[in-house]
Amino acid sequence: MDGSPPPRPALSIADLVADGLADAEQAPVLEQVVQDFRLRLTPQMRAASALSDGVARQFVPSAAELIQRPEDSLDPIGDDVHAPVPGLTHRYPDRVILHVTKTCEVYCRFCFRRETVGDTGHLPPDQLEAALDYIAQTPAIWEVILTGGDPLVLSPRRIADLMARLTAIAHVGVIRLHTRVPVVAPDRITDALIAALRLHPSVWVVVHTNHADELTHEARAALARLADAGVPLLAQTVLLREVNDNANALEDLFCALIRLRVKPYYLHHCDLARGAGHFRTTIAAGQAIMTALRGRLSGTCLPTYVLDIPGGFGKVPIGPDYLLADGQSWRVTDPNGQIHRYDDPVKS
Ligand code: SF4
Repeated sequence: MDGSPPPRPALSIADLVADGLADAEQAPVLEQVVQDFRLRLTPQMRAASALSDGVARQFVPSAAELIQRPEDSLDPIGDDVHAPVPGLTHRYPDRVILHVTKTCEVYCRFCFRRETVGDTGHLPPDQLEAALDYIAQTPAIWEVILTGGDPLVLSPRRIADLMARLTAIAHVGVIRLHTRVPVVAPDRITDALIAALRLHPSVWVVVHTNHADELTHEARAALARLADAGVPLLAQTVLLREVNDNANALEDLFCALIRLRVKPYYLHHCDLARGAGHFRTTIAAGQAIMTALRGRLSGTCLPTYVLDIPGGFGKVPIGPDYLLADGQSWRVTDPNGQIHRYDDPVKS
């Protein structure tokens, strides 16, 4: 035993029909969808999907995935544009993304890496060595971001090995893991896994979650185990049409996360992944939601709304803007939409 939960049974469209999550009439077209984009769901998210449309829509295949739009991209955020060695993205000077696996516990229907997730399992040992060598030989790299796929599908033993290797590189000050596991597969958050994470003195876990209904009793307990162990927790959320594209849904999610000691970090505008156009809102719609939330929630509950500029040009905040230059002054909009003037100090 390596501390991982037992393998999960494969799921089929017929299972989703039996659960009432898919129409029998739609089954042939959904079979076509899953030929192209994999299907995987944990028992926890299968049960949550039966209770919540906001959860089901994220994981249950839809015929809309067969629709391709002109703006759709095979590499929406430019992972391949900045890959000095296979499995590593080096977009910003001080940090790298290490794609340790292409496997996830669930396959999200809107995933920006849907062309690669599920392909070939974990990063082969020779490629992992080459990536670690690159990091060791590049002193500018201060932060290593482990992603995938989902890095927490690796066994605690593999994670411990990786942590030990990265800890041995003196200039790596921070390790950040981006994962959906604590929410979708909370049984993986074991004492052995937490001990492996804590081998590095500064490990941050960024939890991907999009709807309060994903935060099952088990998920809440898993997040509490991580927080109790002293692992700092952030959350990233994708803005998804008919899942969470309204202020009430996001308020529920962000407030629940803060209660669980998880700081909402980014609200991502949905990327241009192929066959995911039905999930995308407009940026104006996202800004309107953020404006509504700004008036309702404390700053601790509010993430930054960001866009990963298509093509690999980086991530930027996309408003809404509260500040406009007005000659020598500024015009500042308050959460109620009223405009105020602000003057910088006069130079002496
Ligand atoms: S868990 Fe993350 S990487 Fe995996 S399918 Fe979902 S969004 Fe993509």
